[in-house]
Amino acid sequence: MSVRTRIAPSPTGDPHVGTAYVALFNYAWARRSGGQFILRIEDTDRQRSHPASERMIFDSLRWLGLSWDEGPDVGGPHGPYRQSERTEIYRERAEELLRRGGAYLCFCTPERLDALRAEQREKKLASGYDGLCRSLPAEEAHRRRAAGEPHVVRLAMPDDDAMVVRDALRGDIRFERPQMDDQVLLKSDGYPTYHLANVVDDHLMRITHVIRAEEWLSSLPKHVQLYRSFGWEMPVFCHLPLLRNADRSKISKRRNPVSLNHYRRAGYLPEALLNYLALMGWGMPDGREEFTLDEFVASFTLERISLGGPVFDQEKLTWLNGKYMRRLTPAELLARLQGHLLSDEYMLRVLPLVQDRIDTLEGFFDYAHFFFAGEVGYDDEALKELIPRNRTAADAAKALQVLLEGHVDPLLDWEAASIEAALRAFADAAGWSAKETFMAVRVAATGRVATPPLFETLAVLGKEVVRRRLRRAIEQLRAARPAA
Ligand code: GLU
Repeated sequence: MSVRTRIAPSPTGDPHVGTAYVALFNYAWARRSGGQFILRIEDTDRQRSHPASERMIFDSLRWLGLSWDEGPDVGGPHGPYRQSERTEIYRERAEELLRRGGAYLCFCTPERLDALRAEQREKKLASGYDGLCRSLPAEEAHRRRAAGEPHVVRLAMPDDDAMVVRDALRGDIRFERPQMDDQVLLKSDGYPTYHLANVVDDHLMRITHVIRAEEWLSSLPKHVQLYRSFGWEMPVFCHLPLLRNADRSKISKRRNPVSLNHYRRAGYLPEALLNYLALMGWGMPDGREEFTLDEFVASFTLERISLGGPVFDQEKLTWLNGKYMRRLTPAELLARLQGHLLSDEYMLRVLPLVQDRIDTLEGFFDYAHFFFAGEVGYDDEALKELIPRNRTAADAAKALQVLLEGHVDPLLDWEAASIEAALRAFADAAGWSAKETFMAVRVAATGRVATPPLFETLAVLGKEVVRRRLRRAIEQLRAARPAA
């Protein structure tokens, strides 16, 4: 049987460096084995899923040079490849599981579940469903469902004290009872949870190797039970070590830029980033640290993946990227710049904003450098404008942090109109005037008090640059001595 691997991202935010990492290993195993690599969009969380996020996932993986054989945008024989288009399939499979006795209907109200949770917390018991509805006689359950009583479908986990499951890298892993509660499979609105949709799709899409991040390991007993209850053959499970911050905590955007858009805008070379990501779980047999994607694929085996918690160190990545940069000929370097910050596309977005404000060609470089730099500096005058009247630098730092995390980060449609709406929402919430807000953001994002129209400027700069500069401005404010 031919090897089939997949990446199954949820389109709920900016494209994550962890997605590229997991995609790379799946890609390598599929290519190495002459099999197929599939991209599936797991968008069953309707509230958090966003088409812009999905587009950015496609774009950034392609930018990295990873291609897939089947997926929402390329089609394939096992589609649709977007879970929101497969809800009927999950409902049918949930019915099948009910018939097979692998699942049951649960009518417990949210109030009962809240009370149960509170009681478990108070008694310091493991949390999880207590199985009350499991003992409902079948006729009663059917009658209540037919009468329209709200319900969910739950997985019936075995009563055993523990379950032992195999991971290709870790060998047999023992999960104890508290990690095996009766998971919801189908919610009361008829939508599947991750667990049901993920397993059903891996089976129907004939996935042979589930290679994913370590954070999903705790779901494994549930998934294994699903395969058993359906009577399906199990894929090989392989949980990659989690990427970590320097302090060894799980990689997070507070410590490291995690958006692929950041690395792309900052001008990391895709081949260097891929090389670096490969090093996160892999050592070449000959110990070489620099290698191409093709070389990686050619030598790849699952067994050689190492489990030590890899630290994603931006400085080391930058160092490696520098080595790749210096290997380019000037003509190649020029082509990279022209494909990026000096592309016609980017220049034609910058120029209309700048044209009215310069009198000579040379003036362009004096005026417009903030469209090309990574970070900008803040002189004392600029710093003052970051702080609304009657507030302290510390207040401003706190508020801008809220702006960053609560209003900028979640914004996936990065366009002038949505940026304006986000800034106004922040102003309302923070009790800042619109004028104060716009000035602070203008200065933070450009280092200047006078710029082309703000929202258009921010749109052209891109979210990643704005984030980075806001972060820098916040740091400066925190370091600022309180005004005398
Ligand atoms: N949708 C999950 C994610 O966002 C997929 C996890 C898996 O690969 O099973 O990572």
